Formats: sequence, structure tokens, C-alpha cells
Amino acid sequence: MRYFSTRGEDQLLSFEETVLAGLAPDGGLYIPERVPSLPANWQCAWKDYSFVDLSVEILSLYISPDEISRAELRGLVEKSYSTFRHPSVTPLKKLDEKTYVLELFHGPTFAFKDVALQLLGNLFEFFLKRRNARKGPGEKPEKLTVVGATSGDTGRCALSESSKHLRAAIYGLRNKANISIFILHPKGRVSPIQEAQMTTVTDANVHNLAVQGTFDDCQDIVKTLFNDREFNATHRLGAVNSINWARILAQTVYYFLSYFQLRRQVSNPDEIEIQYVVPTGNFGDILAGYYAKRMGLPMGRLGVATNANDILARFWKSGAYEKVDSSAPAPTPGAAGASDGRQATDASGVRETLSPAMDILVSSNFERLLWYLAFEGAAQGTDAVERRKAASATIADWMGKVKSDGRVQVPISVLELARRDFFAERVSDDETLDTIKYYFKSEAHYIADPHTAVGLCAARRVAPQNPPQTRQIVLSTAHPAKFSEAVTRALQGSPSFDFQRDVLPPEFKGLLERERRVINVEAPQVDLVKQVIERFAEPAGEVGASV
Ligand SMILES: *Cc1c(COP(=O)(O)O)cnc(C)c1O
Repeated sequence: MRYFSTRGEDQLLSFEETVLAGLAPDGGLYIPERVPSLPANWQCAWKDYSFVDLSVEILSLYISPDEISRAELRGLVEKSYSTFRHPSVTPLKKLDEKTYVLELFHGPTFAFKDVALQLLGNLFEFFLKRRNARKGPGEKPEKLTVVGATSGDTGRCALSESSKHLRAAIYGLRNKANISIFILHPKGRVSPIQEAQMTTVTDANVHNLAVQGTFDDCQDIVKTLFNDREFNATHRLGAVNSINWARILAQTVYYFLSYFQLRRQVSNPDEIEIQYVVPTGNFGDILAGYYAKRMGLPMGRLGVATNANDILARFWKSGAYEKVDSSAPAPTPGAAGASDGRQATDASGVRETLSPAMDILVSSNFERLLWYLAFEGAAQGTDAVERRKAASATIADWMGKVKSDGRVQVPISVLELARRDFFAERVSDDETLDTIKYYFKSEAHYIADPHTAVGLCAARRVAPQNPPQTRQIVLSTAHPAKFSEAVTRALQGSPSFDFQRDVLPPEFKGLLERERRVINVEAPQVDLVKQVIERFAEPAGEVGASV
């Protein structure tokens, strides 16, 4: 299986090249040259498979065995998911007769990004080790470096795209050969708990930089490093981001697993139809469901659930993919709680919500779906290569318009194709809080995190229109303890609610007492940070130094 860019660059890449590259040089995203179909007997053969067994089957449809053998793949997958606390990896829980949640948060950082990043870390390590073993004496080893800035605040501030998955990336890449991680935070400006969460990862390849400066200084330094071509080429800064193909691939597995889990939990498996509803920001999680559907996993339309950052929900209404909602009155920057329920925006126009991991302006993986829509919309009858070229040319044109005009309007035929496979709903913060309350008070007594609640709310909204045989599976993307502010706000009036007892996992306790490692950077200067990276990106750097 080989991969090509959505924007039409001619080259076909191996899986390894695709994973190490991240983004394509023409700005596009890599997709497989075809979506593989399932083996004829999959429903029978796979029905009792574990998460690991299913991963091996599904991933090997997308990875040539001469790149990674089946035995090697099994080893990588086993290692990746041995860090999960639940024996099923992603358990399916029943909330009521027609509603289930697929819990994706039993990995090391208690959020769904672990599913992809645990595997991605092992893939990077595997490829780099093999490449370096083939090098002659004196040749420089290949490295991968991750640099990010964090305010330490997991929610209420403008996080860069990369910081949304920074913690999951740290836990995916800790202790891996030829890989180092540098996390900048503004010294003394983050809360003690948050500082502890970052600095208590003491693996030799994870470096916390306490920068004398503000969060914006840290962000600026990271941006400057990314724009420094030479530095970026040496250190491969760009590979670990939300558009890496391996992340999408890893996430298709739990759609298959939950299909079998649900069939085992109901009495009439052959009569039901599954409807997945997915809380979405960068369209990664739900795109994985779309690949599962295209491969042949039986399901109804996929539900896109957004918060007030609703570029996707607006697309499914109008066929316009646009950063700013041109049909609504402009929100007042900085003015919280506008009367229409639209939250304040930061300088870039992102709305701050109670589900911050979905606070986005554009949705980075959406381009992949647009490519398939353009492909299907391209003139039938021409051969596959011609249609592929036509689709890529269309995407290059559309994404160019998004860049220059902030919007693109797709033809109605394309919108109809999108509506055939998806529906979309926007959920406000008030509805998010009400939903958390509703499921806590329900018979299931379930505590959902605010992202999961966005999905649950969208699912409840469309449920009355579903036929009686529909069963909804809502993807649950984070443990409620990660978003204590929203959960506590929703449940504080409930007499039977106790955050410590009902929500807080033991792993979160005792954090402040643990060992830490920090490198102090005495001024917010790019060169000082570069010096630290150059020095510690080698396998055996000393620790605890100051510059
Ligand atoms: C990243 C994230 C999401 C959104 O996932 P996408 O793949 O970007 O759509 C939802 N919930 C949580 C908790 C997340 O961390």
C-alpha cells in the first residue's frame, strides 16, 4: 500500500515515509491509494478478537508486510496498548436501552489521543532504529524532536494546535530511542498542579523548559523554530501532529471493536443498526469512522458533534467551509457570554468553551474527507488515476481559497454526498452542562466529561428521528477528572456527588510530591532554547542544567 497527497503531488510514498513526513510538502495530507476492503469472512473470523488482534488485522491492510512484518506489527501493537488500564482497552458501556458510550480514555493521559499516540511513538522508534542501524560509520543518526509550548492551563486559554495533544505526545514518546521532547512553559505562571503534571515526567528524553517570560513568548519561540527550515530538517519537528496518517489508522480499530462489543451486548444483533456520534474538533476521530465505513463496517450516518467552534456544523448546513460565520453578527472579542450563547473569542477568533480540546478555527483533517467527496463528485467513467488527479486539483483549489479568502463554497452535489454519510450538530456550553447533569441523574449514574457530553447531547437531539432499531454509540474522549471545572459546575448542586470519591482516579493523587525535572531558560530567546535542544537532543545529555 502506498500513499499520496490530497493536493496532487505526483510522488507515492511508503507507509514509513508517510508516517515520518506528517504533512506533505505541497501542504496536503497523505491518504492511501485505495481504501482496502475487508476479507470475506471478517464478521465471523474477527468477532471475538481483542483490541490488539483487531489492530493487527486492520493495520496490516494498510501496511505492506515487507515494511513491517505481521510479527513485528503484533509486537508494536502489544507494546502500545499494554499501557492501557482496561483489559478491553476501549470498553463499551450501556447508558440506556438505545445509548452506549465507547470509552477511549483508559490510556496514560486519560484522553482518547493516547490510542493513536501510543502506537505512533512505537512506530517512530521502530523506523528510526532500523534506519540508523543501516547507516555506515560516521553517518549522522536520524532523530525526531518534538517541541511545544504549554500555558499549563488545560483549558481556558488559546492553545496552539500542537499543545492540544502535547501531553499524549509526551506519554507516547517518553523513553524512546532517537526521540526527544522539549516542552516550554512560562516560569512561575502556571498553577502548582499543572506544573507538577508537566515536570514529573522524568524520563531522560523528556525536557521541561521553564522560560523566564510569558506563554506568548513561549509560543513565539516554538513558531520561530518551526519556521527555521534548517533546524526543522535536522530535527523533524513537524511529524507529530494531528494530521499524521498513523493516528487516523490507529483510531479505525475501535470502531470495529465496538461493533462486535455491541453485538455481544444486545439480544437481537442482526436487527440493530449502529449510529456513531463523535465529538469533533480536528476531524481525526470521526474520519477514522469514515474509513471504517468505507471499508465496509455496517453503520448508519456518522454524527459530527461540535461545540461553539462550529465550522463543521455550518458546513453541513450550507456547504460553505468558512472560518468566520458570515451569516451571524460578529461576536465581540473578549466579551464573555453574548446573549446568543456564543462565547468570547480569542485574538484568532477561536471561541473558548467548556470542551477546550475541540476549540478550533479550521479542522485540520477535514481536507481528507473533502478529497473523497471531490473524488466521488468527479466525472464518472474516466479512469481511476484521472479521477484521482481531478480530485486533487479540486482540493488544491478549495484549500487555496480557504487560505486566501477564509472560505470555500462547495457545489451542492458535493454537499449532498457529505450528507449521505454524515449529519452534524452544534452544542452550546449550557447544553453541555445540562447533559452532564442528565446522565448523572439517570439510572446509569454516569459522569461524562464535557467533550463526551457534546456527543451525548447531539445524539439525544437526533434520537427521536431514528428508527426503533437504531443503537447509538457515542465516543467518550476524556476522563471526567481531566475537566474538573466543567464537571463540578454541572454537578455541584447534586447531593450525591463527590468529586474526590466519584471522579478522581488514584493516579491523580500525590502528584505534588513526586520527583521533577526542569531546565531553566533565563530569558525568552530563541537562541537559548536552540542551545538546550542541540545539547539534549543527543541520546546522553545531562539533566538539571541551566542556561
Ligand atoms: C482531541 C480531542 C477531541 C477532538 O478530536 P478530533 O480528532 O480532533 O476531532 C475530543 N475530545 C478530546 C478530549 C480530545 O482530546
